[in-house]
Amino acid sequence: MRHIITALTITLISGAVFAEQRNAGSHVHGLNHATIVLEGNRLQIAYEFPAEQLGEQGHEEHKHEEHGDKAHELSKKLETIESIFSMVRLPDNAQCKETEVTHSLTQVGGSDTTHAGHSDALIQATLECGAPENLMNLSFAPAFDRFDDLEKIEVEGVIGNKALSETLTATSSSLAL
Ligand SMILES: [Zn+2]
Repeated sequence: MRHIITALTITLISGAVFAEQRNAGSHVHGLNHATIVLEGNRLQIAYEFPAEQLGEQGHEEHKHEEHGDKAHELSKKLETIESIFSMVRLPDNAQCKETEVTHSLTQVGGSDTTHAGHSDALIQATLECGAPENLMNLSFAPAFDRFDDLEKIEVEGVIGNKALSETLTATSSSLAL
């Protein structure tokens, strides 16, 4: 929910920047959010994006009787992203292994017809890192490679006791920690 509010605030503040966005609403197409938390050896990464990025979901096809099928289709597509490493690359010598990955879809827009059928997709991963001190940087290049319509990723997080807040783009997709 916090991310949805953040996205809304950004839409309002930088209206000019996002004016060409197909749909300036309860989520912003082209804008993804990542949250990174490192505590001891445990690294948690959440990656949230408009479900439209999973494939063509025609904005014209929002008939109610199709909704159940569409949601099912989307969650199947989402689950084909088996690992958070499809989105983010970590230094090998940090020795981070994924111990858990979960997927979820959340409807956005409620009864607002403009956003009917739109969802946010969320991938949450827990990793155990053998040498977390080697987490000097991380790269979201895999996400930019994967999604053609991805423009920006807002990254927020806490690494040890240091807060993190950065915006990444395709030409600047790495983050120094
Ligand atoms: Zn949408």
